[in-house]
Amino acid sequence: MMHELLKQNQNIWDLFTRKEEYSPEKLDEHGRFLFAEKSIRNASEPEASRYLMNHGMQVEFPENKKFAVCLTHDVDDIYPPPSHCLLSSVCCLKSLNFRGSAVQLLWKFRGKEYSPYLNLSKIMDLEASYGAKSSFYFIATEADPIRFRYDIEDIEHHLKEISDRGWEVGLHGGYYSYNNPEAIKKEKKRLEDVLGKTVLGFRNHYLRFKTPDSWEILADAGFSYDSTFGHSNSVGFRNGMCHPFRPYNLKEDREIKILEIPLVVMDVSLFATSKSFEEAWERTQNLIDITASLNGVITLLWHNFVFGCSFRKDWVKLYEKVLEYCSGRGAWMTSGEEIYRWWGDGV
Ligand SMILES: [Zn+2]
Repeated sequence: MMHELLKQNQNIWDLFTRKEEYSPEKLDEHGRFLFAEKSIRNASEPEASRYLMNHGMQVEFPENKKFAVCLTHDVDDIYPPPSHCLLSSVCCLKSLNFRGSAVQLLWKFRGKEYSPYLNLSKIMDLEASYGAKSSFYFIATEADPIRFRYDIEDIEHHLKEISDRGWEVGLHGGYYSYNNPEAIKKEKKRLEDVLGKTVLGFRNHYLRFKTPDSWEILADAGFSYDSTFGHSNSVGFRNGMCHPFRPYNLKEDREIKILEIPLVVMDVSLFATSKSFEEAWERTQNLIDITASLNGVITLLWHNFVFGCSFRKDWVKLYEKVLEYCSGRGAWMTSGEEIYRWWGDGV
């Protein structure tokens, strides 16, 4: 029904399907679609979702909540690289926190388990205190353009703890795998072997994504949903949607059997494009308010390292502000998996 409605307005349909991404004029250094300034400016207006709501789409959430916040974490690092250790340590020293500085520099001597980035329980505790849950996406490949990240086999009990508590373990697809069906399947299996259950959710490292091929590859690999589709150098709604949706393949003229829960705010890109904490918060609040007014779902990505280092305190503060603000507004704050199970085949 959603597609039939969208097709009735050509401009909206072109926006929803991201038609212009089928023949990109330019890609960035990571092979991602390069957005024009204009579409980035327009990204804070969910035009397609607004059109659907104005034309009779109805959305419901558990316990009559009015909107949802999908909380997610890409686990890029489990062990801080030397540059992070140094930065964190210097930050601690500046505030005369000598113990903190030592912890950041010397954790390795106490053992891998003491890594400040093995902070997944701490993140869950913070979310639980606001009645929220989230998704953690883990890397399951050795290939990476910057450095070797980690072996998921080494953190098996952490994955199980996440799953046992009712949070989600998903796959953070490798940098080189986003256009490689065999590599994606291999990573999924590796993660499932450690976790002992099926993995439903996906997001690619560096948000590498090709419309519509990436959706086809993920659907074929058996993923239930993806949450890669967003802006890597800004924030907002990539195809004018602030609701999960079934993507459409214009080349094959058919729907793709996967749910997209579009990414709206990523920590790195939010702060890279904001002049101050206040501006970053205002932009986030604005996106939350628009989403709430349309009974939508807003997806946030906060990397786990943010909560373990000492040089991103502002980013943690903003995350806590989001949790407080959204719980005050009565939002359903949960994982991608729960959104997927609730949304099902869509409206
Ligand atoms: Zn990543």
